[in-house]
Amino acid sequence: QDSIIQLEDKRPTRVTFNDVGGLEELKKTIDLKIIKPFVNPSLFSKFKKKAGGGILLYGPPGCGKTYIAKATSGEINANFYSVHITDILDPYFGGSERNLHQIFETARANKPSVMFFDEIDTIGYSRSKSNSDLMRPLVDSMLTEMESVNTSTDKLLIIGATNMPWDVDSALKRPGRFDKLVFVPPPDKEARKVIFQLKLLGKPVEENLDISLLADKTHLYSGADIENVIEVATEHVLNEIMESNQERSIKMDDLLLAIKQTNPSTLEWINTIK
Ligand code: ATP
Repeated sequence: QDSIIQLEDKRPTRVTFNDVGGLEELKKTIDLKIIKPFVNPSLFSKFKKKAGGGILLYGPPGCGKTYIAKATSGEINANFYSVHITDILDPYFGGSERNLHQIFETARANKPSVMFFDEIDTIGYSRSKSNSDLMRPLVDSMLTEMESVNTSTDKLLIIGATNMPWDVDSALKRPGRFDKLVFVPPPDKEARKVIFQLKLLGKPVEENLDISLLADKTHLYSGADIENVIEVATEHVLNEIMESNQERSIKMDDLLLAIKQTNPSTLEWINTIK
């Protein structure tokens, strides 16, 4: 098995908040709740306040939960550990807990670190799960690991994510744990404009693209969906260039066609919560 955690290398082109379209409230929350305590440990120790706990992001897939966690690490020049809970599950007794502990140890040894736990709903109790009891030790381990973290002094930040917040074990949502639940919505029109601009940056595009119209036509598209629209349009243009041997840039029509050929992926999630 490959490593169960991905350690980002420290490249000069790190993702930061500037690369994330929209989500302004969330950026402020992350700044206040985890970045400030992290860069200002003396203030917290003066007020004898333990900085800890984590933010739990939830919402439809592809809307930037992982991306903003990664950008958080970029903001503070920290290593980024992205962990899918399903990857640490081990059928052998105590195996999952050992894996979890090892991840915390590695992140500690390479601090400052941002740890991102995706699919946090997979551990713990939920009415809709049949294997809940088997997960109990892993929940307990997660609680112990989280409680042992002091964000300021350990230089360890924890962010969790789920598409199904109602399935997250309630013990994990108590104070000092994932105690701040934040919705990461599909991008609104303004955010979609920013995402289009960010993702088209550096590609040959015709002048005066009507970004506003593109944003109008992509209601309920996630950031990942917008990225895909641009992919589809780019592929189309490249094929045409190769066939005709005539180079040209990406035009408005290419992008509009790509929008017609794709669908917003957040709809399915929104329908499941109705
Ligand atoms: P999942 O629930 O499936 O894990 P997610 O919410 O974690 O999804 P991301 O992996 O963060 O989604 O997003 C997928 C890709 O879409 C990102 O790598 C990024 O390029 C793009 N993206 C999504 N949202 C944004 C955004 N707000 N600004 C810029 N890019 C975005």
